Amino acid sequence: MIAGVLMWIRYGSVTDVTMDQIVSLCRRRGFVFPSSEIYGGLSSTYDYGHYGVLMKNEIRQAWLRSMVQERDDIVALDSAVILNPAVWEASGHVAGFTDPLVDCRTCKLRFRADKLEDSHCGKRPSKKPGEDAQCDLTEARQFNLMFQTQVGAMEGASSTAYLRPETAQGIFINFKNVLQIARRKPPFGIAQTGKSFRNEITPGNFLFRVREFEQMEMEFFVPPADAPKWHEYWIDQRLSWHLGLGLRREMLRVRPHEAEELSHYSSATSDIEYLYPIGWQELEGVANRGDYDLTQHAEASGTKLEFVGPDGERYVPYVVEPAVSIERIFVALLCDAYYEEVVGERERTVLRLSPRVAPVKAAVLPLISKDEGMATQARNLFEELRKRFSVEHDDSGQIGRRYRRQDEIGTPWAFTIDEQTLEDETVTVRDRDSLAQERIPISGVASWLLAALERPWSPPVAA
Ligand code: ATP
Repeated sequence: MIAGVLMWIRYGSVTDVTMDQIVSLCRRRGFVFPSSEIYGGLSSTYDYGHYGVLMKNEIRQAWLRSMVQERDDIVALDSAVILNPAVWEASGHVAGFTDPLVDCRTCKLRFRADKLEDSHCGKRPSKKPGEDAQCDLTEARQFNLMFQTQVGAMEGASSTAYLRPETAQGIFINFKNVLQIARRKPPFGIAQTGKSFRNEITPGNFLFRVREFEQMEMEFFVPPADAPKWHEYWIDQRLSWHLGLGLRREMLRVRPHEAEELSHYSSATSDIEYLYPIGWQELEGVANRGDYDLTQHAEASGTKLEFVGPDGERYVPYVVEPAVSIERIFVALLCDAYYEEVVGERERTVLRLSPRVAPVKAAVLPLISKDEGMATQARNLFEELRKRFSVEHDDSGQIGRRYRRQDEIGTPWAFTIDEQTLEDETVTVRDRDSLAQERIPISGVASWLLAALERPWSPPVAA
């Protein structure tokens, strides 16, 4: 243990990490790249690199595990991205999935009228749109966020379709299938993850608001009278889930929507907000959608979407919906985990990610890579571990530099093969957070790692 030489330079504050630091780390270490870069990019569009993909997979798997695998009352679904356009007429999205848009006649930029507080004037970025004497904003008008496309070889009004702006509607139109074929009765839920598309007026703040993102939504169908109770239940569940991913409690809060903020379908919504570098913002929404969606689809399609009990009782269930995107979780986790420190005389950037979501769980490092004995032992250990875990083998450069490379991508442990390994078949385990080192038998590394991954983990408290 080297307590004392470990000095935290996060300046005591919980919010001092900047989005620029996160963007730069993501780029440097290949988590996320600006998309179409060789063609000059496409605004607010990103591609995920190796570590980004691994981390996204962990987030999605954690969600599916808690929503589907560990529950008796929720089943999975994977519906199409392009649905019959009648779905979006019935759901109210064609008429009402809009944001208020204003143009500035001076700087020619467009803004969301309800987010002017978060926007910057095109001529004087230190001011909000409308604050400067030169600003000349139009009246707000409604702008539909759905992307249109054409289905089939013929172009025309009859072939117009939409890329889904939420995954939820794919669930509602499968309600009857699941009720009958999966033989469910309320309360029960249907969960799905997948890409959604919104032509956001002002995308930005890295992955926080993008036009293409991966949603994770679960529609929970309940007897109408029980909806308020289930709404509370899901707010609690989802908050606990985010804490379980390693987010700090003080960075999360629950904020009920004011009446005028509610979406066209919602009778109550609470946002789970995270204190991003841009301030408190919605991480996840938990909405009570009432019977709005099932009723709309029943009327428009002529198919009854209701539950009929064994005694003949019938009702249209209410729906409670927790909805979140992987992108917003991804950014929150990186902001929460990012630290710059001085250890001894050296600086390091470290991602203190929960081992559950870290893209790489452990590194295997031969101390002297030119030493054949160490190289062979390291390679054998790596080959054994990679069958079960996401692990990395690194034999290039000084050991200190290799440790720092792993710290920067959030790898919780490193197993180092050194001279002693050749004598007594033990390796050192280095802990990313405490920098403590211990020796364990090489034959026990896999089971040590398995146990370590199952141990509860909490974010460290800065000294
Ligand atoms: P906002 O008010 O920030 O535009 P919203 O209330 O429209 O969000 P919902 O329709 O409730 O968002 O979407 C559910 C979840 O999907 C959000 O809580 C968020 O996690 C995610 N999400 C929505 N829009 C985006 C986006 N453009 N980029 C990334 N994630 C998004």
